[in-house]
Parts: sequence; C-alpha cells; structure tokens
Amino acid sequence: MCRTCESESRSIWTYIRLPELEQVRVANWISLKLCPECGTLWCFVPYEPYASFSFLVKWPYDEKCFGSIAEIGDARVLHEWHGAFLRENWRSLAADEIEAIDRWRQRTYMSHNPIDKDFAEYPNEYLSSASEIVRYAENTFNKSL
Ligand SMILES: [Zn+2]
Repeated sequence: MCRTCESESRSIWTYIRLPELEQVRVANWISLKLCPECGTLWCFVPYEPYASFSFLVKWPYDEKCFGSIAEIGDARVLHEWHGAFLRENWRSLAADEIEAIDRWRQRTYMSHNPIDKDFAEYPNEYLSSASEIVRYAENTFNKSL
C-alpha cells in the first residue's frame, strides 16, 4: 500500500486532503502529477469557484498518452473525462470527502459542476462516460506503432 497516494485502494482525492505529488505536465488547467513513492500518475483539476475546489483522479495511462490526448480540443477530452470520473465515482469516497463534494456542489448552485450539470442542455463534446477515454488512448497507442 502506498502511504502517499493510496493508489491501490483509491482513484479520487478531494481538496480537503491532497497527497504531496510532483508535477510532470500541465495542459490548460489540468495537470499530470506523479506520486514520488509509487510512481502512480494522477490528474489534477482546480474547479470553480475561484479554482479553489481541486480534485485528483488517477490517470490510467502514461505521460505520453496524457500529452497526446491533451492536444485534442485544448485538453477538453481530459477535462470531460475527469469530470465524468468524479460524477461516476464520488459516492464511493469516505463520508467527510462526500461532504466536501456536497459543499462544492452547493457552492456551484447544484449546477455548475460536472456532477449536477444539465447534460441534455449542455452535452459533452467528446465523451459521455469516463470509460470512453479508452477510445482516445487507443488512438494514441496506434499512432506510436
Ligand atoms: Zn503512491
């Protein structure tokens, strides 16, 4: 078990408790960070309001793949994936972290965040569920063959 990022048992960290990670890449308000203890990669996004609600989501691929996908739509694919992952998995967090997410949802009027956003009115451009990131990742792998 990694004591720094708990990568074996966790895929999300919230702004109330973030591990100390090293920055390896930045792309339009999303950055890739590395756990110095176990080498796991995490994607960090500071959400509104005031970029003060930050969340880490575990990145399932490598740094090169992050860089390639970041080139699509000014990192929009990565943002949609990050938001979709939060939306699909936040309820599995510990109680105080769920409360932290609820405070963020309230601060965004239960609408201006990727959990409560009205997708019928404002659909995502690139993917509608987090697992669809695999399509973009596969394109990246194919390009390198
Ligand atoms: Zn770690």
